[in-house]
Amino acid sequence: SLFGLPEQAAHERVLLATDPATGLKAILAVHSTARGPAFGGCRLWHYDSELAALNDALRLSQGMSLKNALADLPFGGGKAVILKPEGSFDRPALFAAFGRAVQSLQGAYITAEDVGTTTADMRGMQAVTSYVSGIPREGAFGGDPSPKTAWGVFVAIQAGARLVLGRPSLDGVRVALQGLGAVGWHLAEFLHKAGARLVVADVDAGKVERAVAQFGAAPASVADILAADVDVLAPCALGASLNEQTVPAIRAKLIAGAANNQLATAADGDALQRRGICYLPDYLVNAGGIISVAREYRGEGEEAAVMAEVGKIAERVEELLQRVQKADSTPARVADDWARSKLVRQG
Ligand code: NAD
Repeated sequence: SLFGLPEQAAHERVLLATDPATGLKAILAVHSTARGPAFGGCRLWHYDSELAALNDALRLSQGMSLKNALADLPFGGGKAVILKPEGSFDRPALFAAFGRAVQSLQGAYITAEDVGTTTADMRGMQAVTSYVSGIPREGAFGGDPSPKTAWGVFVAIQAGARLVLGRPSLDGVRVALQGLGAVGWHLAEFLHKAGARLVVADVDAGKVERAVAQFGAAPASVADILAADVDVLAPCALGASLNEQTVPAIRAKLIAGAANNQLATAADGDALQRRGICYLPDYLVNAGGIISVAREYRGEGEEAAVMAEVGKIAERVEELLQRVQKADSTPARVADDWARSKLVRQG
């Protein structure tokens, strides 16, 4: 049943948008507007089925509610996925059609970049909707959120290394990076500068070669990266990388990365805890990008202030670990309760 999907009951509304002229098929999921308009990126991806796309949109938009709440942003959670058309397509026209769908929600949902979408796509949509962010502007704050996401993951790793591994600095700390994309590459730069020793994998061999040359990273295969002999694992590719198959082989004692929905199921978070592995929940750690586009959208963006706000992710990691000790639970479950307690309608 469509309304019986695991995440569906919790969503305020879901728009299925189509435009035969451009081939647009998009799902815009508004999970919650309790804290404010639903804010979350738009993903362009090839899905095996329409149901898989719907599930992704529902899971991701719920995650945005939790992420925005924990980051204390005055926004609710939403997300959009565009099913990538087969073959060649007119990209500006496709995004214009998507932008019109965003506009039709009249501000209930605000979009930005995600996997598969670019600053140019966002800029193009400005002609048809005002509910879009992540746009580079001359002399003003804005644009690609991924460096800010990477900074948030970096400070979370620093805090986790200190509090969980007893390492006051990242000098010599071994970090495995799964995915050297927009976020993963910036994260590799921050980690390298801090003296961490990197092990890296990406399906794109060229990115791995560049990381070996630039950061002295050790290459690993895509199949082996999660089980690398390291202190910290940073999943920065796609979701569900922490699952029944991978968890038993993980050797890192701390996990903190950018990828959304890293845990395939809540039970995988419990399994990590039983193995003595501290998993810092993705939506706490990877909020840097949404903080950036949210501040840009409100016209409040200024580089140093946004970096400082993203830096507060380290304090939240510390608070989470204190809450975990008191609750005798897992970080994933405690973060979930903490975020949900903030999903309340704002005055
Ligand atoms: P991206 O597409 O630029 O990078 C992903 C990288 O992972 C690519 O280089 C890809 O080749 C690689 N990859 C894919 N499958 C892999 C596998 N099995 N093993 C190793 N590498 C693999 O995306 P991004 O913007 O860097 O985002 C990465 C993750 O972080 C995504 O899950 C995204 O939703 C999440 N995220 C991104 C942001 C942001 O600001 N960009 C913010 C929050 C969360």
